[in-house]
Amino acid sequence: MGNNFKNEVLSRRTFAIISHPDAGKTTLTEKLLLFGGAIRDAGTVKAKKTGKFATSDWMEIEKQRGISVTSSVMQFKYNDFQVNILDTPGHQDFSEDTYRTLMAVDSAVMIIDSAKGIEEQTIKLFKVCRMRGIPIFTFINKLDRQGKAPLELLAELEEVLGIESYPMNWPIGMGKEFLGIYDRYYNRVEQFRGNEEDRFIPLNEDGEIEGEHKLKTSGLYDQTIEEIMLLNEAGNEFSEKRVANGTLTPVFFGSALTTFGVQTFLETYLQFAPAPKARNSSIGEIDPLSDQFSGFVFKIQANMNPAHRDRIAFVRICSGKFERGMTVNIPRLGKQLKLSQSTSFMAEERSTVEEAVSGDIIGLYDTGTYQIGDTLTTGKNDFQFEKLPQFTPELFVRVSAKNVMKQKSFYKGIQQLVQEGAIQLYKTVKTDEYLLGAVGQLQFEVFEHRMKNEYNAEVLMEHLGSKITRWIENDTVDENLSSSRSLLVKDRYDHYVFLFENDFALRWFQDKNPNVKLYNPMDQH
Ligand code: GDP
Repeated sequence: MGNNFKNEVLSRRTFAIISHPDAGKTTLTEKLLLFGGAIRDAGTVKAKKTGKFATSDWMEIEKQRGISVTSSVMQFKYNDFQVNILDTPGHQDFSEDTYRTLMAVDSAVMIIDSAKGIEEQTIKLFKVCRMRGIPIFTFINKLDRQGKAPLELLAELEEVLGIESYPMNWPIGMGKEFLGIYDRYYNRVEQFRGNEEDRFIPLNEDGEIEGEHKLKTSGLYDQTIEEIMLLNEAGNEFSEKRVANGTLTPVFFGSALTTFGVQTFLETYLQFAPAPKARNSSIGEIDPLSDQFSGFVFKIQANMNPAHRDRIAFVRICSGKFERGMTVNIPRLGKQLKLSQSTSFMAEERSTVEEAVSGDIIGLYDTGTYQIGDTLTTGKNDFQFEKLPQFTPELFVRVSAKNVMKQKSFYKGIQQLVQEGAIQLYKTVKTDEYLLGAVGQLQFEVFEHRMKNEYNAEVLMEHLGSKITRWIENDTVDENLSSSRSLLVKDRYDHYVFLFENDFALRWFQDKNPNVKLYNPMDQH
């Protein structure tokens, strides 16, 4: 394929924003979309927000399903870049959905609330990015409020997350006394309350504002200059290479709500954020610039239109070009499929996509063919991308159909909802009972609601509480070792799994059965 294709791919910037709830992800996303011209009014994203919901809101979401899906991938052009932002649910019960979304991005933006510092959910999501070695850019938000000292925040990055940082800019004051940011990259000061004409003040060779300026009359400016000197002398050096391999995070300060520092952030970010990278597969690395189309399914969302019971499989394109109507192989099924119904995503609407390239996300109409993790390819070369990490559920229920006459819809519903990946299905050995595992309680409630509403199958659920899940090396075990405290089940790939009642039961089992080698798939990353 020609230069045009190559330039198209190299202009892609595909990323997700990770944060603890309330740090400002929605606000920042919305401001980025405004700059990108993808939405016209502030408040658009807010109104469609789907991140923080309780079970009762699920019904509301259903009504708005079309909308919530369009905002799960947001696409816009900015200067020469084609930006794809993948949204991630804010609710922690949906975190494994987020984990998989992170498999489909090339970088991540981590938002931190300057007053709260690094919070629990941020730590979890950060670890997933770390495991994949993807570049992480940090936006420290809410500088218009009094927060922690900037040096303290950098220390937290290092101590809590174990990542070194390079501040691209540095605040001058904060809260009521927030004057702006000292921009080390563009060598200028950006004023918080400046007019358009004097928003940027250039710095001289010594890194200072030349001559007299009202900013200099405040002690805050002197303090910033002192801290900048400290950073220059004792701070980390900027290294594009280390940013690219995820060991150094560029840090930006700003205030999403007041749209301060957001454009500077976006422009700098787009320069350093990576274009689509090669991905590992069963036949080695797949070059995003290669001709052969390939991609993988990282998310399936069911029943977008309740009248048609359709589903959309979200595919991250990893190489080549997608063209509507093309035929692809699905190596898992050994089957070919014609992709005629496809969708691309804008912030405000869904539209049919005719063409898309490496780095883009497309939505494929699905009638139950795809599974999370499926590879799609064209050409003679069949291969599969690396498996997506399997999350380890912590909570379990035993589930059965309330009405035995409805067994058929019950099984169909379970199969389809399990394929979406939010819940995991297990069967007890010998007795063949169905168990479901999830990372959060909300998943079960949504499951129950959807089974009833979408499959007309009411379910009975018996809560089994939290369990420790362990798979077995070699996948061989004496089924008689199953007991109530160490329940032996099979996952949906028919592999053995032990569900231990607690840590004590796990250790006790290991002492008694040293020959059974247990492992947790999440530990292998
Ligand atoms: P999310 O949960 O991460 O999506 O956070 P939101 O974007 O919904 O923001 C949470 C709250 O913080 C909202 O009330 C926002 O208005 C507020 N907020 C977001 N950014 C800023 C900021 O820069 N300054 C201030 N003062 N508040 C902000």
